[in-house]
Amino acid sequence: GAEPLALLRSLAASGGDMERPDDSTPRAIRRVGVIGGGTAGYLAALALKAKRPWLDVTLVESRHIPIIGVGEATVTYMTLFFHHYLGIDAEELYRRVRPTWKLGIRFDWGPHPDGFMGPFDWSSDSVGLQGALRTSGSINGSTLGSALMMADKAAVYRKGEDPLSLMKYVPFAYHLDNALLVSYLTELAERRGVHHVEATVADVELSGPEWVEKLRTADGRDLSFDLYVDCSGFRSQLLGRAFETPYVPFSSTLFTDSAVTGNVAHDGKIRPYTQATTMNAGWCWRIPTRDSDHRGYVFSSAAISDDEAAGELAARFPGISEPRFVRFRSGRYEKAWRGNVMAVGNSYGFVEPLESTGLMMIGVEVQTLVSCLPASWEGPQVRETVNAALGQQWDAIRWLLGLHYRFNSRLDTRFWQECRASADVSGFRPLLDVFAGGAPLSRRNAFVQDMLNRVAPTFFGLFGIDYLLLGQQVPARILPMDESLSAWRARKRAADALVGPALPTREALEAFDACPELNRQLLEDEDSWAGAEIARRMGMR
Ligand code: FAD
Repeated sequence: GAEPLALLRSLAASGGDMERPDDSTPRAIRRVGVIGGGTAGYLAALALKAKRPWLDVTLVESRHIPIIGVGEATVTYMTLFFHHYLGIDAEELYRRVRPTWKLGIRFDWGPHPDGFMGPFDWSSDSVGLQGALRTSGSINGSTLGSALMMADKAAVYRKGEDPLSLMKYVPFAYHLDNALLVSYLTELAERRGVHHVEATVADVELSGPEWVEKLRTADGRDLSFDLYVDCSGFRSQLLGRAFETPYVPFSSTLFTDSAVTGNVAHDGKIRPYTQATTMNAGWCWRIPTRDSDHRGYVFSSAAISDDEAAGELAARFPGISEPRFVRFRSGRYEKAWRGNVMAVGNSYGFVEPLESTGLMMIGVEVQTLVSCLPASWEGPQVRETVNAALGQQWDAIRWLLGLHYRFNSRLDTRFWQECRASADVSGFRPLLDVFAGGAPLSRRNAFVQDMLNRVAPTFFGLFGIDYLLLGQQVPARILPMDESLSAWRARKRAADALVGPALPTREALEAFDACPELNRQLLEDEDSWAGAEIARRMGMR
């Protein structure tokens, strides 16, 4: 509801990036307390230290309150965030965290028996959506990334002794083993001078409705900082509990609230994607790690019991390890930043990982905080600009996930009947109306696209909406092809020629393990999707 021009003026007045306060700066921000040692806490602390090295950063975490401990699938933004923004060395990440690659999400979703691929290179349209639809009735294979996903391969080749990589042209994200990631980040934070305090925050002392004076720990210590970054997970110790910030639930769109997880052997075959499979009362992820596939059934506890969920998971994936349950709620607080507290991660907002947005939103929140933090609490502040921008991004994700529930016709259980009848997707209604009258949206003229971007900002772009709606076969008038079929077939042949000799994902990953030069090309070459120039344009360098 904030007025956009006023928000922009406040951002301009603040001078943007934080400068170093000097000795005479009144109410200077020098000491930062990051409360929480999950992914959010460590990423926030590392970013503050990397970009504002003069800050004195302390991370406070409780031994008695475990971290969420899931969160393996990411998006391409995080690849840039890790290496360009945090300056994490690729070789070290490969050695310590042993990531696998994700070229997109494979959805076992909608009426087509093969489901559909949601590749990261969707907007390149490198083979062509319309030709794929016209020739096979499916969107699969419409980009190089999608074609590689279908073949379980990555764009790495053997050329004599040396590997040759084209991965700088195929955007990918990491699958990260959460335990390995957090233990690596913990060590990195220590190496980079983040102080560590083991304590449980028991009390928050306020000196105004939006000002934390100090924290009292369970063992009787007082901790005080100039800025508090609340990374306390679902407890939301400062933003939620101490400030009693109003909460915006997403429960009319997203009906799930639980997950049951486990590992299944993959016999050495590593898929180059995250998979999302429709289940009776929700869906199940498959996230490949080097050693096994991680599975997690996200379900609605109103529709089935824990035992039923665990039973369905075990029946579907025989040999799965002992079930582990996780609870969550979907929604966000009205604001992320109030007074001297900014919340990052689950303490501010959360949705189920259907589009792997958790770590990405942590990255966006951290980058926003670091970019907008002033040198002092005196003078113009940009809190409401930040709150409006982050709130809008969370809401766009809510509507995006809603489209997965509203239109998935794969199963006819009570849960799915209810989703199709009532999952609230009102924020994206304009996109649905225009899509029905002429799809793909990404082929509509520039004026229509601009109009849609204004009335229903998607955050993922119109191509993303096309993939989701066309993949689920949502009825629409399909626009005629704007090229000849033979031109499309020529591009298809070119893509097939790149997929045929490409290596299976495991061998491609091993080539990167063995040959650091391949990561250097990816992260430095001018023509790479993850190169330094792109990172600069994204405000990361
Ligand atoms: P947590 O991990 O809960 O950490 C909270 C920290 O705060 C802990 O260290 C705790 O000790 C500390 N703490 C809390 N209260 C206090 C206190 N009073 N005093 C001191 N310390 C305190 N994201 C993705 O990007 N991809 C995925 O595939 C994905 N899958 C997910 C699957 C499920 C089922 C769930 C629930 C989440 C998933 N996520 C995923 C989201 C992701 O896990 C989280 O966003 C991420 O782990 C961030 O968690 P966090 O750091 O905010 O909170």
